[in-house]
Amino acid sequence: AIPWNVQTEDNKDILFAEQTLNDQHFGLEKVKERILEYLAVKTMTGKNPSTILCLVGPPGVGKTSLARSIADALGRKFVKVSLGGVKDESEIRGHRRTYLGALPGRMIQAMKKAGTTNPVFLLDEIDKMASDHKGDPASAMLEVLDPEQNSQFSDNYIEEPYDLSKVLFIATANDLGGIPGPLRDRLEIIEVSSYTEQEKLMIVKEHLIKKQLEAHSLKPEQMILSDDIIMEIIQHYTREAGVRELERYIAKLCRKTVLAILKEKVESVTIDQDKLVEFLGKAPFDHTKKLPRPQVGVVTGMAYTQFGGDILPIEVNHFDGTGKFIITGQLGDVMKESASIALDYLKANKEKYGLDDKAFEKQDIHIHVPEGAIKKDGPSAGVTLTTAIYSAFTNKPVRDDVAMTGEITLRGNVLPIGGLKEKSISAHRSGIRKIIIPKDIEDIPESVRNDLEIVLADHIDTVLEHAIVK
Ligand code: ADP
Repeated sequence: AIPWNVQTEDNKDILFAEQTLNDQHFGLEKVKERILEYLAVKTMTGKNPSTILCLVGPPGVGKTSLARSIADALGRKFVKVSLGGVKDESEIRGHRRTYLGALPGRMIQAMKKAGTTNPVFLLDEIDKMASDHKGDPASAMLEVLDPEQNSQFSDNYIEEPYDLSKVLFIATANDLGGIPGPLRDRLEIIEVSSYTEQEKLMIVKEHLIKKQLEAHSLKPEQMILSDDIIMEIIQHYTREAGVRELERYIAKLCRKTVLAILKEKVESVTIDQDKLVEFLGKAPFDHTKKLPRPQVGVVTGMAYTQFGGDILPIEVNHFDGTGKFIITGQLGDVMKESASIALDYLKANKEKYGLDDKAFEKQDIHIHVPEGAIKKDGPSAGVTLTTAIYSAFTNKPVRDDVAMTGEITLRGNVLPIGGLKEKSISAHRSGIRKIIIPKDIEDIPESVRNDLEIVLADHIDTVLEHAIVK
């Protein structure tokens, strides 16, 4: 039942490919360009490039649907195998037929489903493969992806070499760090990053609504949804990097509309503020998560998470004691180190910052990063920690509309960090008006840039100057 000779003819028209990608996805210019380059090389050489495309980014940003578009563009069949949680080599390579209940591996099963020898084959969540005593699936994957070897792929169940060399493999991952080194070597990484609110609005208007209306057999005039209401859903009902939740909410609106049309015999439903609350319930998220007012010893940091960016308040308290140093909130080692660096920098520069000579000896310091259930790590909270400790000991409040990020050194220098696009988007979304960062990069989207004051700081003094309430 597996295909041995059936093959589809590739569509070699690169303009058609471009058109398909553009029709099915809003924005993502850089990503589309990289994909087109890849396809162009493929068409020109007539064979698969030796590297495998790997789309990396948070959930719901369109990685899977991009891969599907590539299949459409080439006129190939599309199959998908999810590698999340695969930890047994025989899931890739199959079981020997001597075992009861033996099955071919997932590669062969997917090929059977594809029915052709040259489908676009999506390897989903390649970063979530695990390994255990039953062998390492990553090394089996290496064989699958290696163009030198995969024309003779051997599945334990089939016991015949099978030719995978015509397959166009595409991988997706959430986190590059999860991909084993040798495997990563084979991949050509394309990053797909989070969307801004404006981008989400356009995606809803140009794609998601159409898709959901069609799925519910609704005509556009039967559900009337204004930009303001869509924005309200984006800002108050979802907090995500991609658009998956958003799509679910649009689907929910469609369902409720269909019900209203059938039950109440109305012609159409206009979604206004009241209808929105009636259909979706109260908004789960506040307009802003930012601090309500300037406070002493509380500073807003910016964090990079699996779901995009987020702002993260850091709290510092001090009280009579013996110079103890307490840290809570599930911090990783790197972040704890940043806290010691922050504290020691201030200790070493007591006079400069007008701190009490004996302050640190007779006082205990407690640093807390709320939302203790989430593990946090990374060096980028250095400046935030320093500012919080400074503010606590000098009793000067910190501005509530400022967020910051950057690594700190023992000399007080601020070093660059990653994830600025996500961090700036989330700060903007949360109502922050000024961000303090080590180095400007072009990644910060125009719409966010126009709305935020960006301060570049290479030393902690600049940070304090902008963050402390005058
Ligand atoms: P991922 O694989 O990255 O987790 P999906 O590909 O499943 O995400 O995307 C989730 C949904 O969002 C899909 O319905 C997809 O069509 C839609 N989507 C995501 N990004 C875009 C975009 N730029 N334009 C149009 N639709 C998009």
